[in-house]
Amino acid sequence: MINPGQYVSVFVDLPGGDRQPRQYTVSSTSSGTRLQITVSRVRGVNGAPDGRVSSYLHDHAAVGDPLDVSAPAGDFVVPESGEPLLLASAGTGITTVLPIVEHIARTQPERKVIVAHADRTAQDHALRSTVLHVGRQIDDFTAYTWYESVDPGDHLSRQGLMDLSDVELPDDIQVFTCGPLPFMRQARSTLLARGVPASRIRYEVFGPDLWAAQMSDAETPG
Ligand SMILES: Cc1cc2nc3c(=O)[nH]c(=O)nc-3n(C[C@H](O)[C@H](O)[C@H](O)COP(=O)(O)OP(=O)(O)OC[C@H]3O[C@@H](n4cnc5c(N)ncnc54)[C@H](O)[C@@H]3O)c2cc1C
Repeated sequence: MINPGQYVSVFVDLPGGDRQPRQYTVSSTSSGTRLQITVSRVRGVNGAPDGRVSSYLHDHAAVGDPLDVSAPAGDFVVPESGEPLLLASAGTGITTVLPIVEHIARTQPERKVIVAHADRTAQDHALRSTVLHVGRQIDDFTAYTWYESVDPGDHLSRQGLMDLSDVELPDDIQVFTCGPLPFMRQARSTLLARGVPASRIRYEVFGPDLWAAQMSDAETPG
């Protein structure tokens, strides 16, 4: 069974015989017979090489190819309690949002859900229309977007990096954040300053978790 928010390890045989595993969030659980992942192509910056597995999947994996995939794992999973949710994501972190929204729409449509997503542009914002479409099945669903560059005709999205300081939040909000570390740091400190207890802020790091080690004991992540 896949719990929304979990990931699988995908094993890829790269040219040259190197076998490499990478983790990818199961980005949709809407079909009982299909397992969906969403892979962002990682480009090397400042002379670094492009990401090996993401590039391979983009360039060589085709519809119908079998992929070697592990059982789902991970504890970035929403508890079944009815507390309102803030799902704050940036970039690829959106892959954790869709399965959670799908799950709430299916099992607790009366539960309040706020999604907040930041990206470079609307064109970079993966899974956007699907999240909004599924969100319409939730009674109390609000979506916010921040883009570094907002399209001229887009009057709903906010300009710049995510700023949660004026987003209306219920007292008992449960927060799930996923995205680049600087984004999660910023989101977390804004929420802590607003009085959201640290124990109510969960996060998922798409890479080695260097963050937990850097945090003081008082700020131990949830
Ligand atoms: C729990 C979890 C869930 C995840 N979910 C998703 C998801 O849903 N979707 C998604 O797209 N990703 C997800 N990821 C990230 C994913 O696992 C991979 O890390 C990502 O796809 C990059 O892998 P890669 O093989 O393409 O890049 P790699 O080859 O591992 O390279 C990674 C980075 O290191 C740099 N680099 C590599 N070699 C060098 C070098 N010699 N010198 C300098 N720099 C170098 C590259 O330029 C690149 O920026 C998740 C990760 C975790 C841990």
